[in-house]
Amino acid sequence: MSRTSGSRIVEETTLERERLEQLAARIEAGDERPSLEVRTPFTDEPVGSIPACTPDDVAGVVDRARSAQADWGRATVDQRAAILERVGDLVLNRRGELLDVVQLETGKSRHHALEEVLDVPLTCSYYASNGAAILADADRSGAMPLVSDATVTYDPVGVVGVISPWNYPLTLAMTDAIPALLAGNAVVCKPDERTSYIALALADLFEQAGLPEDLFQIVTGNGATVGPALLDEVDHVAFTGGTETGRTVAEQAGRNLIDCSLELGGKNPMLVLDDADTETAARGAAKGAFTNAGQLCLAPERIYVDERRYDGFVDAFVGATRRLECGLEFDYGPDVGSLIDGDHLDVVRGHVESAVADGASLLSGGRARPDIGPFCYEPTILTDVDPDSRVACEETFGPVVSVYPVSGVEEAIERANDSEYGLNASVWTSDRERGRAVARKIDCGTVCVNDPYTVGWAATDAPMGGFGDSGLGRRHGPEGLRRYVDTRTIATSRIGPLDAPPGVSPHWFARFMIGLTKVQRRLTRWLP
Ligand code: NDP
Repeated sequence: MSRTSGSRIVEETTLERERLEQLAARIEAGDERPSLEVRTPFTDEPVGSIPACTPDDVAGVVDRARSAQADWGRATVDQRAAILERVGDLVLNRRGELLDVVQLETGKSRHHALEEVLDVPLTCSYYASNGAAILADADRSGAMPLVSDATVTYDPVGVVGVISPWNYPLTLAMTDAIPALLAGNAVVCKPDERTSYIALALADLFEQAGLPEDLFQIVTGNGATVGPALLDEVDHVAFTGGTETGRTVAEQAGRNLIDCSLELGGKNPMLVLDDADTETAARGAAKGAFTNAGQLCLAPERIYVDERRYDGFVDAFVGATRRLECGLEFDYGPDVGSLIDGDHLDVVRGHVESAVADGASLLSGGRARPDIGPFCYEPTILTDVDPDSRVACEETFGPVVSVYPVSGVEEAIERANDSEYGLNASVWTSDRERGRAVARKIDCGTVCVNDPYTVGWAATDAPMGGFGDSGLGRRHGPEGLRRYVDTRTIATSRIGPLDAPPGVSPHWFARFMIGLTKVQRRLTRWLP
Protein backbone atom coordinates (compact mmCIF):
# COMPACT_ATOMS: atom_id res chain seq x y z
CA MET A 1 0.00 0.00 0.00
CA SER A 2 1.57 3.29 -1.05
CA ARG A 3 1.01 6.17 1.34
CA THR A 4 3.09 8.68 -0.54
CA SER A 5 1.19 11.45 -2.22
CA GLY A 6 2.26 14.29 -4.52
CA SER A 7 4.92 16.46 -2.94
CA ARG A 8 4.09 15.16 0.53
CA ILE A 9 6.21 12.30 1.76
CA VAL A 10 3.46 10.41 3.48
CA GLU A 11 -0.19 11.33 3.16
CA GLU A 12 -0.87 11.97 6.85
CA THR A 13 2.01 14.40 7.42
CA THR A 14 2.62 17.94 6.30
CA LEU A 15 6.24 17.04 5.50
CA GLU A 16 7.18 17.95 1.96
CA ARG A 17 9.91 16.38 -0.14
CA GLU A 18 11.40 19.82 -0.66
CA ARG A 19 11.93 20.18 3.08
CA LEU A 20 13.93 16.95 3.26
CA GLU A 21 15.98 18.06 0.24
CA GLN A 22 16.62 21.38 1.98
CA LEU A 23 17.86 19.54 5.08
CA ALA A 24 20.14 17.22 3.06
CA ALA A 25 21.61 20.31 1.35
CA ARG A 26 23.11 21.32 4.72
CA ILE A 27 25.81 18.71 4.02
CA GLU A 28 28.43 20.38 1.91
CA ALA A 29 29.72 17.23 0.23
CA GLY A 30 30.76 17.62 -3.41
CA ASP A 31 28.25 16.79 -6.16
CA GLU A 32 30.24 13.77 -7.20
CA ARG A 33 29.70 12.10 -3.79
CA PRO A 34 27.58 8.96 -3.85
CA SER A 35 24.36 9.27 -1.91
CA LEU A 36 22.53 6.87 0.37
CA GLU A 37 18.83 6.22 -0.01
CA VAL A 38 16.65 6.82 3.07
CA ARG A 39 13.52 4.65 3.30
CA THR A 40 10.63 4.92 5.71
CA PRO A 41 9.58 1.89 7.78
CA PHE A 42 5.98 3.05 7.28
CA THR A 43 5.98 1.72 3.72
CA ASP A 44 9.58 0.68 2.96
CA GLU A 45 9.55 3.31 0.22
CA PRO A 46 12.43 5.73 -0.43
CA VAL A 47 11.78 9.20 0.93
CA GLY A 48 15.02 10.88 -0.05
CA SER A 49 18.79 10.53 -0.08
CA ILE A 50 21.70 11.87 1.89
CA PRO A 51 25.33 12.34 0.86
CA ALA A 52 27.84 9.65 1.80
CA CYS A 53 30.61 11.79 3.28
CA THR A 54 34.22 10.76 2.69
CA PRO A 55 37.08 10.89 5.22
CA ASP A 56 38.22 14.14 3.53
CA ASP A 57 34.76 15.65 4.06
CA VAL A 58 34.92 14.67 7.73
CA ALA A 59 38.39 16.22 8.14
CA GLY A 60 37.15 19.47 6.55
CA VAL A 61 34.10 19.61 8.83
CA VAL A 62 36.20 19.02 11.96
CA ASP A 63 38.69 21.70 10.84
CA ARG A 64 35.89 24.25 10.59
CA ALA A 65 34.48 23.11 13.94
CA ARG A 66 37.91 23.55 15.52
CA SER A 67 38.22 27.10 14.23
CA ALA A 68 34.74 27.99 15.50
CA GLN A 69 35.43 26.44 18.90
CA ALA A 70 38.19 28.88 19.82
CA ASP A 71 35.80 31.81 20.44
CA TRP A 72 33.03 29.59 21.87
CA GLY A 73 35.46 28.15 24.42
CA ARG A 74 36.19 31.70 25.64
CA ALA A 75 32.49 32.64 25.99
CA THR A 76 31.06 32.45 29.52
CA VAL A 77 29.00 29.44 30.54
CA ASP A 78 25.99 31.74 30.93
CA GLN A 79 26.34 32.97 27.33
CA ARG A 80 26.42 29.40 26.07
CA ALA A 81 23.54 28.40 28.37
CA ALA A 82 21.30 31.16 26.96
CA ILE A 83 21.66 29.72 23.44
CA LEU A 84 20.98 26.18 24.63
CA GLU A 85 17.81 27.35 26.41
CA ARG A 86 16.69 28.85 23.07
CA VAL A 87 17.34 25.49 21.43
CA GLY A 88 15.07 23.87 24.05
CA ASP A 89 12.34 26.45 23.32
CA LEU A 90 12.63 25.87 19.57
CA VAL A 91 12.40 22.08 19.97
CA LEU A 92 9.11 22.54 21.82
CA ASN A 93 7.79 25.14 19.38
CA ARG A 94 8.78 23.17 16.27
CA ARG A 95 7.67 19.82 17.70
CA GLY A 96 5.23 19.11 14.86
CA GLU A 97 7.94 18.79 12.24
CA LEU A 98 10.35 17.01 14.60
CA LEU A 99 7.69 14.42 15.54
CA ASP A 100 6.92 13.83 11.86
CA VAL A 101 10.58 13.38 10.91
CA VAL A 102 11.30 11.04 13.85
CA GLN A 103 8.26 8.94 12.98
CA LEU A 104 9.02 8.95 9.27
CA GLU A 105 12.58 7.70 9.76
CA THR A 106 12.00 5.22 12.59
CA GLY A 107 8.38 4.05 12.20
CA LYS A 108 7.82 4.55 15.94
CA SER A 109 4.49 5.59 17.45
CA ARG A 110 3.84 9.29 18.04
CA HIS A 111 3.78 8.75 21.85
CA HIS A 112 7.31 7.41 21.73
CA ALA A 113 8.46 10.16 19.36
CA LEU A 114 7.01 12.67 21.85
CA GLU A 115 9.13 11.16 24.68
CA GLU A 116 12.15 12.10 22.58
CA VAL A 117 10.98 15.61 21.82
CA LEU A 118 10.15 16.37 25.47
CA ASP A 119 13.47 15.03 26.73
CA VAL A 120 15.58 17.56 24.80
CA PRO A 121 14.29 20.83 26.40
CA LEU A 122 14.67 19.25 29.86
CA THR A 123 18.29 18.35 29.13
CA CYS A 124 18.92 21.89 27.82
CA SER A 125 17.45 23.44 30.99
CA TYR A 126 19.31 21.08 33.33
CA TYR A 127 22.74 21.87 31.89
CA ALA A 128 21.92 25.54 31.31
CA SER A 129 20.95 25.89 35.01
CA ASN A 130 23.65 23.72 36.58
CA GLY A 131 26.56 24.03 34.14
CA ALA A 132 28.17 27.13 35.64
CA ALA A 133 28.37 25.54 39.12
CA ILE A 134 29.68 22.22 37.77
CA LEU A 135 32.38 23.95 35.69
CA ALA A 136 33.35 26.60 38.27
CA ASP A 137 36.95 26.57 39.50
CA ALA A 138 37.15 24.33 42.57
CA ASP A 139 39.45 24.82 45.56
CA ARG A 140 41.04 21.60 46.82
CA SER A 141 43.35 20.83 49.74
CA GLY A 142 46.94 21.85 49.01
CA ALA A 143 50.05 19.74 49.56
CA MET A 144 50.63 21.30 52.98
CA PRO A 145 48.04 23.23 55.02
CA LEU A 146 48.68 27.01 55.24
CA VAL A 147 51.77 26.70 53.08
CA SER A 148 50.22 25.80 49.74
CA ASP A 149 46.86 25.57 47.98
CA ALA A 150 45.37 23.91 44.88
CA THR A 151 42.63 24.97 42.46
CA VAL A 152 41.09 22.86 39.71
CA THR A 153 39.99 24.48 36.45
CA TYR A 154 37.93 22.96 33.64
CA ASP A 155 38.64 23.65 29.97
CA PRO A 156 36.80 22.30 26.93
CA VAL A 157 38.58 19.41 25.21
CA GLY A 158 38.01 20.95 21.74
CA VAL A 159 35.86 19.04 19.23
CA VAL A 160 33.56 16.25 20.41
CA GLY A 161 32.34 13.56 18.02
CA VAL A 162 28.85 12.23 18.81
CA ILE A 163 28.00 8.92 17.10
CA SER A 164 24.37 8.02 17.64
CA PRO A 165 22.01 5.15 16.75
CA TRP A 166 18.63 5.06 15.01
CA ASN A 167 16.36 3.99 17.86
CA TYR A 168 16.15 7.34 19.72
CA PRO A 169 17.83 9.55 17.11
CA LEU A 170 16.77 12.86 18.62
CA THR A 171 17.24 12.17 22.33
CA LEU A 172 20.47 10.22 22.11
CA ALA A 173 22.28 12.69 19.86
CA MET A 174 21.17 15.67 21.96
CA THR A 175 21.73 14.18 25.39
CA ASP A 176 25.43 13.96 24.50
CA ALA A 177 25.70 17.08 22.32
CA ILE A 178 24.10 19.59 24.74
CA PRO A 179 26.58 19.17 27.62
CA ALA A 180 29.48 19.04 25.14
CA LEU A 181 28.46 22.44 23.74
CA LEU A 182 27.78 23.88 27.18
CA ALA A 183 31.29 22.90 28.26
CA GLY A 184 32.64 25.05 25.40
CA ASN A 185 33.29 22.41 22.75
CA ALA A 186 32.27 22.17 19.12
CA VAL A 187 30.26 19.05 18.19
CA VAL A 188 30.34 16.97 15.02
CA CYS A 189 27.52 14.48 15.00
CA LYS A 190 27.38 11.30 12.94
CA PRO A 191 23.82 9.94 13.01
CA ASP A 192 22.86 6.46 11.88
CA GLU A 193 22.44 6.53 8.10
CA ARG A 194 18.76 5.60 8.50
CA THR A 195 18.01 8.63 10.70
CA SER A 196 20.06 11.51 9.30
CA TYR A 197 17.18 13.88 8.56
CA ILE A 198 16.33 14.35 12.22
CA ALA A 199 19.96 15.25 12.99
CA LEU A 200 19.91 17.75 10.11
CA ALA A 201 16.66 19.25 11.43
CA LEU A 202 18.42 19.75 14.77
CA ALA A 203 21.33 21.52 13.08
CA ASP A 204 18.72 23.84 11.57
CA LEU A 205 17.33 24.60 15.05
CA PHE A 206 20.79 25.31 16.49
CA GLU A 207 21.32 27.84 13.70
CA GLN A 208 17.96 29.50 14.42
CA ALA A 209 18.82 29.63 18.12
CA GLY A 210 21.89 31.71 17.31
CA LEU A 211 24.63 29.12 17.80
CA PRO A 212 27.69 30.44 15.96
CA GLU A 213 28.32 28.81 12.58
CA ASP A 214 30.16 25.46 12.41
CA LEU A 215 29.86 24.68 16.14
CA PHE A 216 27.27 21.94 15.60
CA GLN A 217 27.72 20.05 12.36
CA ILE A 218 26.49 16.80 10.89
CA VAL A 219 28.44 14.27 8.82
CA THR A 220 26.28 11.66 7.09
CA GLY A 221 27.10 8.31 5.57
CA ASN A 222 28.02 4.77 6.45
CA GLY A 223 29.34 4.19 9.97
CA ALA A 224 32.25 1.97 8.95
CA THR A 225 33.66 4.84 6.81
CA VAL A 226 32.56 8.00 8.57
CA GLY A 227 32.94 6.70 12.16
CA PRO A 228 36.69 5.88 12.02
CA ALA A 229 37.37 9.10 10.04
CA LEU A 230 35.66 11.11 12.78
CA LEU A 231 37.54 9.27 15.52
CA ASP A 232 40.82 10.24 13.84
CA GLU A 233 39.98 13.96 14.03
CA VAL A 234 38.13 14.66 17.29
CA ASP A 235 39.26 15.05 20.93
CA HIS A 236 36.52 12.93 22.57
CA VAL A 237 33.94 10.58 21.16
CA ALA A 238 30.54 9.97 22.76
CA PHE A 239 29.28 6.75 21.18
CA THR A 240 25.89 5.09 21.57
CA GLY A 241 25.27 1.81 19.80
CA GLY A 242 25.91 -1.91 19.85
CA THR A 243 28.57 -3.52 22.07
CA GLU A 244 30.66 -4.90 19.19
CA THR A 245 30.84 -1.51 17.43
CA GLY A 246 31.62 0.01 20.84
CA ARG A 247 34.69 -2.24 21.19
CA THR A 248 35.94 -1.07 17.77
CA VAL A 249 35.40 2.56 18.76
CA ALA A 250 37.21 2.04 22.10
CA GLU A 251 40.18 0.39 20.34
CA GLN A 252 40.60 3.31 17.96
CA ALA A 253 40.10 5.87 20.72
CA GLY A 254 42.79 4.05 22.72
CA ARG A 255 45.21 4.16 19.80
CA ASN A 256 44.55 7.87 19.30
CA LEU A 257 44.76 8.48 23.07
CA ILE A 258 41.44 10.29 23.17
CA ASP A 259 38.79 9.75 25.78
CA CYS A 260 35.52 8.06 24.90
CA SER A 261 32.17 7.44 26.54
CA LEU A 262 30.36 4.29 25.39
CA GLU A 263 26.65 3.65 25.90
CA LEU A 264 26.09 0.12 24.65
CA GLY A 265 23.61 -2.75 24.65
CA GLY A 266 21.78 -4.51 27.47
CA LYS A 267 19.81 -7.60 28.42
CA ASN A 268 17.85 -5.88 31.13
CA PRO A 269 16.30 -7.84 34.00
CA MET A 270 13.06 -7.00 35.82
CA LEU A 271 12.52 -8.53 39.28
CA VAL A 272 8.98 -8.98 40.62
CA LEU A 273 9.23 -9.70 44.36
CA ASP A 274 6.79 -11.70 46.50
CA ASP A 275 5.15 -8.52 47.86
CA ALA A 276 4.68 -6.80 44.48
CA ASP A 277 1.31 -5.64 43.24
CA THR A 278 1.00 -7.81 40.15
CA GLU A 279 -1.29 -5.43 38.23
CA THR A 280 1.15 -2.54 38.69
CA ALA A 281 4.15 -4.71 37.78
CA ALA A 282 2.33 -6.03 34.70
CA ARG A 283 1.52 -2.49 33.53
CA GLY A 284 5.18 -1.58 34.04
CA ALA A 285 6.34 -4.65 32.13
CA ALA A 286 4.08 -3.86 29.16
CA LYS A 287 5.27 -0.25 29.10
CA GLY A 288 8.96 -1.18 29.53
CA ALA A 289 9.19 -4.13 27.17
CA PHE A 290 7.16 -2.70 24.29
CA THR A 291 7.99 1.01 24.29
CA ASN A 292 9.36 1.87 20.85
CA ALA A 293 8.51 -1.72 19.82
CA GLY A 294 11.17 -2.89 22.30
CA GLN A 295 13.94 -1.02 20.46
CA LEU A 296 15.01 0.70 23.65
CA CYS A 297 18.37 -0.02 25.25
CA LEU A 298 16.74 0.16 28.73
CA ALA A 299 13.80 -2.17 27.97
CA PRO A 300 13.39 -5.30 30.13
CA GLU A 301 13.95 -8.49 28.14
CA ARG A 302 14.07 -10.94 31.12
CA ILE A 303 11.45 -10.93 33.87
CA TYR A 304 12.04 -12.93 37.06
CA VAL A 305 8.86 -13.35 39.08
CA ASP A 306 8.59 -14.80 42.59
CA GLU A 307 6.73 -18.10 42.17
CA ARG A 308 4.06 -16.91 44.65
CA ARG A 309 3.19 -14.05 42.30
CA TYR A 310 3.90 -15.83 39.00
CA ASP A 311 0.38 -16.84 37.86
CA GLY A 312 -1.18 -13.51 38.82
CA PHE A 313 1.60 -11.55 37.14
CA VAL A 314 1.53 -13.58 33.93
CA ASP A 315 -2.28 -13.26 33.59
CA ALA A 316 -2.13 -9.50 34.15
CA PHE A 317 0.88 -9.07 31.82
CA VAL A 318 -0.73 -11.04 28.98
CA GLY A 319 -3.92 -8.97 29.44
CA ALA A 320 -2.02 -5.64 29.40
CA THR A 321 -0.03 -6.73 26.33
CA ARG A 322 -3.08 -7.82 24.36
CA ARG A 323 -4.66 -4.43 24.97
CA LEU A 324 -1.76 -2.67 23.20
CA GLU A 325 -2.74 -1.44 19.77
CA CYS A 326 -0.19 -1.92 16.97
CA GLY A 327 -0.42 0.57 14.14
CA LEU A 328 1.30 3.15 11.98
CA GLU A 329 -0.18 6.62 12.22
CA PHE A 330 1.22 10.11 12.38
CA ASP A 331 -1.11 10.71 15.34
CA TYR A 332 -1.45 9.72 19.01
CA GLY A 333 -3.42 6.54 18.33
CA PRO A 334 -1.47 3.28 18.28
CA ASP A 335 0.73 2.17 21.19
CA VAL A 336 3.31 0.16 19.26
CA GLY A 337 4.85 1.10 15.90
CA SER A 338 7.24 -0.58 13.52
CA LEU A 339 10.69 -2.12 13.73
CA ILE A 340 13.37 -0.17 11.89
CA ASP A 341 13.85 -2.41 8.84
CA GLY A 342 13.65 -5.88 7.31
CA ASP A 343 17.06 -7.03 8.63
CA HIS A 344 16.02 -6.21 12.16
CA LEU A 345 12.65 -7.91 11.68
CA ASP A 346 14.57 -11.06 10.67
CA VAL A 347 16.67 -10.90 13.88
CA VAL A 348 13.59 -10.53 16.08
CA ARG A 349 11.66 -13.25 14.26
CA GLY A 350 14.73 -15.53 14.41
CA HIS A 351 15.04 -15.13 18.22
CA VAL A 352 11.39 -16.06 18.74
CA GLU A 353 11.35 -18.95 16.27
CA SER A 354 14.50 -20.54 17.67
CA ALA A 355 13.20 -20.14 21.25
CA VAL A 356 9.94 -21.88 20.30
CA ALA A 357 11.90 -24.62 18.49
CA ASP A 358 13.86 -25.10 21.77
CA GLY A 359 10.60 -25.61 23.71
CA ALA A 360 9.47 -22.11 24.70
CA SER A 361 5.73 -21.33 24.98
CA LEU A 362 4.23 -18.27 23.32
CA LEU A 363 1.73 -16.53 25.59
CA SER A 364 1.12 -13.57 23.33
CA GLY A 365 2.27 -12.31 19.91
CA GLY A 366 4.99 -14.12 18.01
CA ARG A 367 3.90 -12.93 14.57
CA ALA A 368 4.99 -10.36 12.03
CA ARG A 369 2.15 -8.08 10.94
CA PRO A 370 2.71 -7.11 7.29
CA ASP A 371 -0.97 -6.12 7.17
CA ILE A 372 -0.06 -3.18 9.47
CA GLY A 373 3.37 -2.32 8.08
CA PRO A 374 6.24 -4.12 6.33
CA PHE A 375 8.34 -4.47 9.54
CA CYS A 376 5.69 -4.64 12.25
CA TYR A 377 5.92 -7.41 14.84
CA GLU A 378 3.45 -8.15 17.63
CA PRO A 379 4.41 -7.62 21.30
CA THR A 380 5.54 -11.09 22.31
CA ILE A 381 5.69 -12.88 25.67
CA LEU A 382 7.61 -16.16 26.05
CA THR A 383 7.79 -18.61 28.95
CA ASP A 384 9.60 -21.96 29.43
CA VAL A 385 12.60 -20.46 27.64
CA ASP A 386 15.73 -22.62 27.45
CA PRO A 387 18.42 -20.60 29.32
CA ASP A 388 20.90 -21.30 26.49
CA SER A 389 18.67 -20.08 23.67
CA ARG A 390 19.55 -16.86 21.84
CA VAL A 391 16.53 -15.02 23.21
CA ALA A 392 17.72 -15.77 26.76
CA CYS A 393 21.32 -14.65 26.27
CA GLU A 394 21.53 -12.11 23.44
CA GLU A 395 19.97 -8.68 23.20
CA THR A 396 16.87 -9.01 20.97
CA PHE A 397 16.17 -5.26 20.81
CA GLY A 398 12.59 -5.90 19.77
CA PRO A 399 9.12 -6.42 21.31
CA VAL A 400 10.03 -9.76 22.88
CA VAL A 401 10.30 -10.60 26.58
CA SER A 402 10.75 -13.85 28.50
CA VAL A 403 9.18 -14.52 31.90
CA TYR A 404 10.76 -16.94 34.42
CA PRO A 405 9.46 -18.08 37.85
CA VAL A 406 12.03 -17.89 40.68
CA SER A 407 12.00 -19.32 44.21
CA GLY A 408 12.65 -15.96 45.92
CA VAL A 409 14.63 -12.75 45.96
CA GLU A 410 18.07 -14.41 46.20
CA GLU A 411 17.50 -16.44 43.05
CA ALA A 412 16.06 -13.38 41.28
CA ILE A 413 19.21 -11.37 42.08
CA GLU A 414 21.53 -14.21 41.07
CA ARG A 415 19.81 -14.69 37.72
CA ALA A 416 19.56 -10.94 37.08
CA ASN A 417 23.33 -10.68 37.54
CA ASP A 418 24.06 -13.70 35.34
CA SER A 419 24.81 -11.59 32.25
CA GLU A 420 27.76 -9.89 30.60
CA TYR A 421 25.60 -6.79 30.30
CA GLY A 422 24.70 -4.35 33.09
CA LEU A 423 22.70 -1.43 31.74
CA ASN A 424 19.31 -1.12 33.45
CA ALA A 425 17.15 -3.18 35.81
CA SER A 426 13.92 -2.73 37.73
CA VAL A 427 12.66 -4.08 41.05
CA TRP A 428 8.93 -4.32 41.84
CA THR A 429 7.77 -4.44 45.45
CA SER A 430 5.23 -2.80 47.77
CA ASP A 431 8.12 -1.89 50.12
CA ARG A 432 10.28 0.81 48.50
CA GLU A 433 13.06 0.48 51.11
CA ARG A 434 13.30 -3.22 50.36
CA GLY A 435 13.36 -2.35 46.65
CA ARG A 436 16.28 0.03 47.20
CA ALA A 437 18.16 -2.61 49.22
CA VAL A 438 17.71 -5.18 46.43
CA ALA A 439 18.76 -2.54 43.86
CA ARG A 440 22.16 -2.21 45.55
CA LYS A 441 22.85 -5.88 44.81
CA ILE A 442 22.16 -5.62 41.09
CA ASP A 443 25.10 -5.12 38.74
CA CYS A 444 23.61 -2.42 36.52
CA GLY A 445 24.28 1.28 35.99
CA THR A 446 20.65 2.18 36.74
CA VAL A 447 18.15 0.25 38.83
CA CYS A 448 14.59 1.60 39.00
CA VAL A 449 12.15 0.69 41.76
CA ASN A 450 8.50 0.29 40.65
CA ASP A 451 9.13 1.78 37.21
CA PRO A 452 10.75 0.09 34.21
CA TYR A 453 13.14 2.86 33.08
CA THR A 454 11.61 6.36 32.99
CA VAL A 455 12.46 7.41 36.57
CA GLY A 456 16.10 6.51 35.94
CA TRP A 457 16.47 8.09 32.51
CA ALA A 458 14.52 11.24 33.36
CA ALA A 459 16.59 11.90 36.52
CA THR A 460 18.85 14.13 34.42
CA ASP A 461 20.84 15.11 37.52
CA ALA A 462 21.91 11.48 38.11
CA PRO A 463 24.53 9.66 36.01
CA MET A 464 23.50 6.97 33.58
CA GLY A 465 25.58 4.27 31.92
CA GLY A 466 26.49 0.62 31.93
CA PHE A 467 28.48 -1.97 33.87
CA GLY A 468 30.40 -4.68 31.98
CA ASP A 469 29.60 -5.00 28.27
CA SER A 470 27.03 -2.20 28.52
CA GLY A 471 29.61 0.53 28.34
CA LEU A 472 32.13 2.94 29.80
CA GLY A 473 31.63 6.42 31.23
CA ARG A 474 28.41 8.15 32.20
CA ARG A 475 25.99 10.59 30.58
CA HIS A 476 23.63 12.93 32.51
CA GLY A 477 24.40 14.76 35.74
CA PRO A 478 27.74 16.45 36.52
CA GLU A 479 29.52 13.33 35.21
CA GLY A 480 27.90 13.84 31.81
CA LEU A 481 29.39 17.35 31.57
CA ARG A 482 32.82 16.75 33.10
CA ARG A 483 33.64 14.02 30.56
CA TYR A 484 34.02 16.84 28.02
CA VAL A 485 36.62 18.93 29.85
CA ASP A 486 40.31 18.79 30.54
CA THR A 487 41.02 19.40 34.20
CA ARG A 488 44.00 21.50 35.17
CA THR A 489 45.35 21.76 38.72
CA ILE A 490 46.96 25.07 39.65
CA ALA A 491 48.98 24.61 42.85
CA THR A 492 50.66 27.54 44.63
CA SER A 493 53.34 27.66 47.29
CA ARG A 494 53.49 30.59 49.74
CA ILE A 495 57.10 29.86 50.78
CA GLY A 496 58.89 29.11 47.52
CA PRO A 497 60.07 25.57 46.77
CA LEU A 498 58.82 22.92 49.26
CA ASP A 499 62.32 21.84 50.09
CA ALA A 500 64.94 22.28 52.83
CA PRO A 501 65.75 25.99 53.27
CA PRO A 502 69.41 26.92 52.61
CA GLY A 503 71.72 26.00 55.51
CA VAL A 504 69.42 23.45 57.17
CA SER A 505 71.05 20.07 57.80
CA PRO A 506 69.56 17.21 55.71
CA HIS A 507 69.17 15.06 58.88
CA TRP A 508 67.23 17.77 60.69
CA PHE A 509 65.06 18.35 57.63
CA ALA A 510 64.34 14.61 57.27
CA ARG A 511 63.23 14.46 60.98
CA PHE A 512 61.12 17.58 60.49
CA MET A 513 59.41 16.09 57.39
CA ILE A 514 58.66 12.78 59.18
CA GLY A 515 57.06 14.69 62.08
CA LEU A 516 55.13 16.92 59.71
CA THR A 517 53.84 13.90 57.75
CA LYS A 518 52.49 12.37 60.99
CA VAL A 519 50.72 15.61 61.91
CA GLN A 520 49.37 15.99 58.41
CA ARG A 521 47.93 12.45 58.41
CA ARG A 522 46.14 13.21 61.70
CA LEU A 523 44.78 16.48 60.34
CA THR A 524 43.60 14.73 57.15
CA ARG A 525 41.67 12.23 59.26
CA TRP A 526 40.17 14.86 61.61
CA LEU A 527 39.44 17.71 59.26
CA PRO A 528 36.61 17.34 56.72
P1 NDP B 1 25.50 0.15 15.79
O1 NDP B 1 26.60 -0.05 16.76
O2 NDP B 1 25.43 -0.71 14.60
O3 NDP B 1 25.47 1.67 15.23
C1 NDP B 1 25.51 2.78 16.08
C2 NDP B 1 26.18 3.94 15.36
O4 NDP B 1 27.54 3.61 15.10
C3 NDP B 1 25.56 4.26 13.99
O5 NDP B 1 25.57 5.64 13.79
C4 NDP B 1 26.50 3.55 13.04
O6 NDP B 1 26.46 4.11 11.74
C5 NDP B 1 27.83 3.81 13.72
N1 NDP B 1 28.93 2.91 13.33
C6 NDP B 1 28.87 1.74 12.68
N2 NDP B 1 30.11 1.22 12.52
C7 NDP B 1 30.97 2.10 13.09
C8 NDP B 1 32.39 2.12 13.27
N3 NDP B 1 33.19 1.15 12.82
N4 NDP B 1 32.94 3.17 13.91
C9 NDP B 1 32.16 4.17 14.38
N5 NDP B 1 30.82 4.20 14.24
C10 NDP B 1 30.23 3.18 13.61
O7 NDP B 1 24.19 0.08 16.67
P2 NDP B 1 22.75 -0.37 16.25
O8 NDP B 1 22.31 0.28 15.01
O9 NDP B 1 22.71 -1.85 16.31
O10 NDP B 1 21.93 0.29 17.45
C11 NDP B 1 21.34 -0.45 18.40
C12 NDP B 1 22.29 -0.75 19.56
O11 NDP B 1 22.52 0.43 20.29
C13 NDP B 1 21.69 -1.75 20.53
O12 NDP B 1 22.65 -2.68 20.93
C14 NDP B 1 21.29 -0.88 21.71
O13 NDP B 1 21.22 -1.56 22.91
C15 NDP B 1 22.35 0.16 21.68
N6 NDP B 1 21.88 1.36 22.36
C16 NDP B 1 22.42 1.70 23.57
C17 NDP B 1 21.95 2.79 24.29
C18 NDP B 1 22.54 3.19 25.61
O14 NDP B 1 22.31 4.33 26.05
N7 NDP B 1 23.27 2.34 26.29
C19 NDP B 1 20.84 3.60 23.78
C20 NDP B 1 20.33 3.14 22.52
C21 NDP B 1 20.85 2.07 21.83
P3 NDP B 1 25.60 3.45 10.52
O15 NDP B 1 24.49 2.64 11.12
O16 NDP B 1 25.14 4.61 9.74
O17 NDP B 1 26.52 2.57 9.74
